[in-house]
Amino acid sequence: AHRRAREQERLSSLGMLAAGVAHEINNPMSYVKSNVNALLMDLRALQPLPPELREYVDDVLPATADGIRRVVAIVADLRRFARGDPGALEEYDLNEEIAVALRITRTQVQSRCEVEVTLADLPRLLGRPGQLAQVVVNLLMNAAQAMPDGGRIQLSTRMEADEAVLCVRDTGIGMTPEVQARLFQPFFTTKPAGEGTGMGLAVVHGIITSHQGHIHVESAPRNGTCFTVRLPRVPPLGLRLADLSDGPLTPPS
Ligand code: ADP
Ligand code: MG
Repeated sequence: AHRRAREQERLSSLGMLAAGVAHEINNPMSYVKSNVNALLMDLRALQPLPPELREYVDDVLPATADGIRRVVAIVADLRRFARGDPGALEEYDLNEEIAVALRITRTQVQSRCEVEVTLADLPRLLGRPGQLAQVVVNLLMNAAQAMPDGGRIQLSTRMEADEAVLCVRDTGIGMTPEVQARLFQPFFTTKPAGEGTGMGLAVVHGIITSHQGHIHVESAPRNGTCFTVRLPRVPPLGLRLADLSDGPLTPPS
């Protein structure tokens, strides 16, 4: 429990750092992005195009634009990680958020693998529904990416005592203990550059702990992976009070 508290503290100061960095990067980046795009458009419109500029039009500028897109994606993930917009606590149905996540990931997930969904009746939970949908999206995307040659995802919910339990199981490549140990670290990825930012599970971890829940992984190389998320039906009072203090009770600054 002590280690978990330290881990949470580390991730929350990291969250503040992330918010600061994201903010600093965003403005110059949008400036660079629009200039590169404008330059590329102008060069493409140039008739005839001087041969020494061909490489810029075909390679250099498109590659630069790709790099910028990647930075912008990382910054967007950083922002989410930093929870710049936590959203209000509301009552929600976890099964509905799962349905939202399945719709969002339809092209990347359902087209590639079989998805078996088993949902139990759940009581309404208190939390930030949009964030929970994002958790499910990240787990589904990771599962699908772990199965390049197809496979099966089993997604289920159930109630255990006063906790909602969500399981996402895949038949993919699985993970070594070394990978499992670093899973939730921001920027940890085993995917080739351009495919993973390594922020997905860091975001998931932040969301689940801010809901006073737990996430747990079981996996073995070539033997698939199972993520289990536990969410208290009503998060402890502390979280609800912290949420209120962001609201109308805060004096205007
Ligand atoms: P990303 O997907 O961008 O790499 P994540 O934080 O979502 O970042 O995941 C971090 C790493 O954890 C992945 O690169 C991968 O090595 C591993 N991982 C996550 N989910 C799975 C899974 N379902 N099966 C196998 N490996 C996984
Ligand atoms: Mg991911």
